[in-house]
Amino acid sequence: MNDDNLTHFGFQKVQESDKEKKVAEVFDSVASRYDLMNDLMSAGLHRLWKRFAVAQSGVREGARVLDIAGGTGDLSLAFARRVGRTGQVLLTDINNAMLTRGRDRLLDCGHPTPAAQCNAESLPFRDDIFDCVIVSFGLRNMTRKDAALAEMRRVLKPGGRLLALEFSHVWKPLAPLYDLYSFKVIPKIGQLIAHDAPSYRYLAESIRMHPDQESLKSLMESVGLERVEYFNLCFGVVALHRAYKF
Ligand code: SAM
Repeated sequence: MNDDNLTHFGFQKVQESDKEKKVAEVFDSVASRYDLMNDLMSAGLHRLWKRFAVAQSGVREGARVLDIAGGTGDLSLAFARRVGRTGQVLLTDINNAMLTRGRDRLLDCGHPTPAAQCNAESLPFRDDIFDCVIVSFGLRNMTRKDAALAEMRRVLKPGGRLLALEFSHVWKPLAPLYDLYSFKVIPKIGQLIAHDAPSYRYLAESIRMHPDQESLKSLMESVGLERVEYFNLCFGVVALHRAYKF
């Protein structure tokens, strides 16, 4: 195995070319129970984290928003309500099972929204067209986060904002309790509800392998994003990074 092309899939080291397939297997497996699992695992807190992200977006009526790795569409729906008839939201995801659920849900809620299946690391959009790009709990799963962030920057208009909501590194004194919850309890809930403990073990492991708050900030700066700042939520269980393209 060529070490140069290795990356993490949770705690495993895998070839970069295999990670995308393994991540796809996770989301194919959990798609039908994804929303219920989010509510159960976070005791509904993910709704507040997402609401906070939308509040920090500065998005107003008429804006054009790109939801990257948008999955079942929580953020797209929130933004569709904000931008109104004169704005536009685009829901994207690499995974067809997740994207289909998201697109159908938006339709059912009265917000028919264009949806595109695409890899965040190579976006099929022109430069400089979105006022806001959001990626919520998606970046952690991407193989080349730098390439994905560079793509997000490319499609933003000058002055546009990027928001990245993601699990992050928890305040140290809480780590033992958080570890117990994420490695012992979450896979059990995953087994019970989604009949899939390994995918939820991957969730816990991938969080540990994701760059911490400062490292992600540096990564964003390294692709040319500016005025990068972050907000810790729930003692750093989750962090919202916000950055601009100028
Ligand atoms: N954004 C939604 C939310 O906050 O509930 C869904 C997040 S879900 C945990 C992660 C999503 O990232 C999955 O739908 C998965 O298919 C998507 N994903 C993973 N790798 C991706 C990539 N390289 N490009 C686009 N989407 C990706």
